[in-house]
Formats: sequence, structure tokens, C-alpha cells
Amino acid sequence: MYIFKEIHSLQLHLEAEKKAGRTVGFVPTMGALHDGHISLITAAREQSDVVVCSIFVNPTQFNDPKDYEKYPITINEDVSKLVAAGTDVLFLPTVAEMYPEGVHGEHRHYDFGYLETVLEGAHRPNHFQGVGIIVHKLLEIVQPTGLFMGQKDFQQCMIVKKLLEITQMPVNLVICATRRETDGLAMSSRNMRLSADERKLATAIYNVLVGLKQNIGSTPLPDLKQNAILALEKQGFLVDYIEVADANNLRVVSAPIPEGMVALAAAKLNEVRLIDNMLL
Ligand code: AMP
Repeated sequence: MYIFKEIHSLQLHLEAEKKAGRTVGFVPTMGALHDGHISLITAAREQSDVVVCSIFVNPTQFNDPKDYEKYPITINEDVSKLVAAGTDVLFLPTVAEMYPEGVHGEHRHYDFGYLETVLEGAHRPNHFQGVGIIVHKLLEIVQPTGLFMGQKDFQQCMIVKKLLEITQMPVNLVICATRRETDGLAMSSRNMRLSADERKLATAIYNVLVGLKQNIGSTPLPDLKQNAILALEKQGFLVDYIEVADANNLRVVSAPIPEGMVALAAAKLNEVRLIDNMLL
């Protein structure tokens, strides 16, 4: 596996690959890799000639400075996992390489409209602008054929879809299913920050989503949501939201609709904020 820290050398390498007619699959990550990330690498491996992964903890998407400072970094293990999964190229830039204008410099503003005003957008001010900035920069650098992202970050996938529309970049967005631990907890780099006791409680998020899915036809939605919030609070969570939305546009619904729905949850267990979602 090649490791590039500079944009210029990565681009020289990829230009040669593209000239030889090879397709490029790209998996952007913030590192602390787990099997969820590796499933994206595997999908990219199956669908592309060259697999590029990036590891970059992007400062502009963290609305909470403490969350940024405490974000886990496990680069040696990450490199081993990427090699084992058949990754061809790792892009590992510094903050200065990605933000020559400065983290607090002038950035483009994206009009994500309604999508940015709800759920994660409402609870994490500027988060999706930061996501837009970094994904746009990375896509301009890598210019991949396919972009592989996880359904775990459902709203982020919709934001990136919108970003591709706004920027007119000819990239095929491939959304991969959420990988879970055996008790159902969605794999996440932030799970590493849970204590043993918190880790046992964390599965409650998955359980309330399963409960919602099972009862959506028989119990009024407001009651279901309220019960889910209470169940999480009982386990010690501070709940940001539990919502049911139209899976196509994330419009929150107050009664079931036939077009396809998604239940989304975000809650904090002490210092660690977890998110998850489930198609209903
Ligand atoms: P992150 O490193 O958290 O920015 O995530 C990098 C990519 O991995 C994003 O596209 C995530 O949606 C995806 N991802 C994170 N957790 C999972 C998971 N449990 N299953 C599948 N994909 C995931």
C-alpha cells in the first residue's frame, strides 16, 4: 500500500492509474478504523480497480472542540487493517495540507437547504458545512469514479448526495449497510471511548430502534417516540432526538407513510455522543 501525505504526490500517482484506464474507488474516513470502515473498503475493492482510503480528522466538522481533541487516533493499527483489506493507497494529509487557507479561513458555503436544518444539522451547528468543505476538497483531489460511504451516517449520505448535485461532480455515490457488533450496537470509532459499563448500556440505542420498527404499525408514532426516549433516559442517556422521517428527503413524519421511512437517533452517554438509524 502506498501512503501519501501530500496532495501533489497523490495526484501524480492517481493520474498514472487513470491514464492506464483504471477506475478509482474512494473511502474517506477519520481513522480509528473498525469493521464498518473495512466493509466500505471491501465494497470499493469489489467495484474498483484502485482503492484509495483517506484518514483525516477534519477540524471544521467538529462543533464541540472537546470531541475533536478526544477523537481516537490509532494510525498503526489502521495501516495494518487497510493493508489486510487490500487497500492500494492511503492518503494521510496534515491539517495544513488540507487547509492552506487556515481552518478558520474563508470557506465556500453550501446551500444544503432543509437537510441542514434538522436532526444532526439542528444539534451540531456548522457540522454539515464542515463535511461539505472536506468532502469537496477530497473529491477534487482524488477525482474518484466511486465514493463509498456508510448508511450509519444517514443524513451525511444525503448531504453528500446534495453536494454532488451542487458541484456537478461525476462521482457514483455507493451507500453501504451499517455494520453492527453482535449485540446490535452500530460500530463507531467513538465506541472506543465508552467504559465497559457504558458499552453494555450503549446497545439500548439499537434496541429502541428495533422496538420502533416492530411497533410502527400498531402504536401511534408520538407514543412510540416518547417511549423510546424514556427507555434511553432510563439507561442514563441524554437524548438529542429520536425521529421518524421520510427516507427520501428526511422530512420528519408524525404518522406512518407508505414511501419508506427511517428512524434516527442521537444520544449522549456521559461524554460520548452516539448516532444510529434504521430503515422501517
Ligand atoms: P468516519 O471515520 O466516522 O468519518 O466514517 C467514515 C465512513 O465510514 C463514513 O462513510 C461512515 O458512514 C462509515 N461508517 C462508520 N461506521 C460505520 C458502520 N458501522 N458501518 C458502515 N459504515 C460505517
